[in-house]
Amino acid sequence: MPSQHEAIPSLRSKQATVQAGFGGEQELDKVLEGYAFSMKHGIFNDLSLASSTYFQVDTLFITPSYAVLFEVKNIAGELTVTQNPPQMIRVLDSGQVSGFKSPIAQLESNCELFQDWLYSRNISLPVYGAVVLAYARQRIEVFDTNTPILFPSAVPTFIRKLPTTSPLLDDETFADLLSQLSSSHRDFIPSPICETYSIPRNDIRTGVICPGCGFIGMEKYMGGWRCLACGGTSRDAHKKAIRDWFLLFGGGMRNKDCREFLRVDKQQTAHRLLASMDLEVVGAKRNRSYYMSFHMERKKRT
Ligand SMILES: [Zn+2]
Repeated sequence: MPSQHEAIPSLRSKQATVQAGFGGEQELDKVLEGYAFSMKHGIFNDLSLASSTYFQVDTLFITPSYAVLFEVKNIAGELTVTQNPPQMIRVLDSGQVSGFKSPIAQLESNCELFQDWLYSRNISLPVYGAVVLAYARQRIEVFDTNTPILFPSAVPTFIRKLPTTSPLLDDETFADLLSQLSSSHRDFIPSPICETYSIPRNDIRTGVICPGCGFIGMEKYMGGWRCLACGGTSRDAHKKAIRDWFLLFGGGMRNKDCREFLRVDKQQTAHRLLASMDLEVVGAKRNRSYYMSFHMERKKRT
């Protein structure tokens, strides 16, 4: 990204959090962890589940009486969420305006998908949701909605105030549900960075980065990649670039995406590079997409 990019303060704050030894956990996660809930519960982060479609839950708090989905946003600037169309407009101090997906619409859709996921396992639980703003200096204006928008510190109180019934699931069913949540979540699909931080796709500079000097835009030649700045060469500098693409944008990479991001002209070249990377291939010929899976240790606490 350009060094003056508006997302950099929140990225730096995230980096500072990680480096301060919080292990990359969300603010919300720290709050939930530090709170002694009296009821039986499970907490899952970055949960990728499949219902009628794949969906991703930032944080799931589940008990034998209900489930709560949290959609966590970490964005700087003044935000306005509109209902119709469902979108979020962000205005920066610099005056720059950008439009993004509505976190409220995203949350509503996730709640429905999770409800379906439970039904398909013959489980019926009330599913609640809340948007959590992890960036402390965020200003937000929202249309009249029932969806709560909270700072992390308010989440325990929010949970405590949820209507409580006697447990709807017995101990065995609940334990089984927790283990199903863990195991149905095999391939970790991290939230794309651009989505989490609402960075417009076009703000990301393309090109293979020189491992020697950091120059962006190495040139492809027969044997690999050549740096136009330091003259260094690399056989496999594209591997990092392709991995970066998946972390930044997520989803499936088409040949065209690869050519654009690596600044490669020939379809054949992009095909060869992609085929060398042990990616999951979906579709054939022109509709072919490649997927990268990120295997990571899952966290689960009960
Ligand atoms: Zn270089």
